[in-house]
Amino acid sequence: MDTAVLDLIRRSRRVLAICHVGPDGDAIGSLLGLGWALKAMGKEVTLACADPVPPFYRYLPGQGEIVRRPEGMFDLVISLDCSDKERLGDAYREEYHALPLLNIDHHVTNQYFGTANLVDPEAASTAEIVFLLLDELGLPIDPPMAQCLLTGIVTDTRGFRTASSTPRVLAIANRLMAAGASLPEIVSRTLERRPLAMIRLWGQALPGAQLRGKILWTEITEAMRAEAGLTTVDDGGLVNFLLTAEEAEVAVVFSEKNGGQEVEVSFRARPGWDVAQVALSLGGGGHMLASGATVRGGLAEVRERVLALLEESLAAQERARRET
Ligand code: AMP
Ligand code: MN
Ligand code: MN
Repeated sequence: MDTAVLDLIRRSRRVLAICHVGPDGDAIGSLLGLGWALKAMGKEVTLACADPVPPFYRYLPGQGEIVRRPEGMFDLVISLDCSDKERLGDAYREEYHALPLLNIDHHVTNQYFGTANLVDPEAASTAEIVFLLLDELGLPIDPPMAQCLLTGIVTDTRGFRTASSTPRVLAIANRLMAAGASLPEIVSRTLERRPLAMIRLWGQALPGAQLRGKILWTEITEAMRAEAGLTTVDDGGLVNFLLTAEEAEVAVVFSEKNGGQEVEVSFRARPGWDVAQVALSLGGGGHMLASGATVRGGLAEVRERVLALLEESLAAQERARRET
């Protein structure tokens, strides 16, 4: 492992760790797992996320300590699960921009924006990279760390079902369980649970699903969300569900937000395709098989523009495949 990374951590005393806006299980899990570890090393730690912790991650030990806007001064900032600096949101305040920044991430679209970068696109989750870092530092894993890190792994692999679920992932999960993490509790809290309002929202969004070539897409309007009684912009995994359609190679969900001024776009693909580059070209990022972007504009206009770009990209990928 890069000695610059280890040196930054070893020398730091007051650390600010930040995960991405609109946090998922890997963002919160890697943030808390690292937070517990840094405390065990005797450091002063502040954990931050610009958006609130979603209710179903509130079983995680330490989540109550995560602040939305950090206060005070630090000697190191650590970014977790962010492909670019913008993903840190308002938690990365202006006055922290001059501090050393350690970028820990697994997105293939990562911009290497840190003073030091611990980036592994082969890793299934940022939590997995944090685990390897703690191993390298020789820090024993306690049950709270284990529970947080395994949550990151389980949620980003949707319960070890993604193409990213390698033998290394399972070996690390094994060690985290041996250290006290509960796999059944994590699965039941995260993958097997959603608000009834989310199921009602799916009920509204599913009839509008349309197949365009090999792309299955649907949209969620702000009116649907209000009707279902939801305030967050996530789709509760609807885009993964769409991709289970036999006819689909790629699935997309368009979610209207900010009073119709922006659209959150979520892409998923079956192995063999790449949706990371389209997301990147729209100012977002992600992985080959799961990516996203926030696009300015109205729902219908953004949808047509993005579907056209995506069709073009898939056609180019097909051509490239035929040529090799
Ligand atoms: P999602 O569809 O929100 O579950 O996101 C899928 C993947 O794309 C995750 O790895 C996210 O980190 C990434 N992603 C989603 N939205 C954005 C965005 N606006 N900017 C950069 N990356 C994103
Ligand atoms: Mn994430
Ligand atoms: Mn992740």
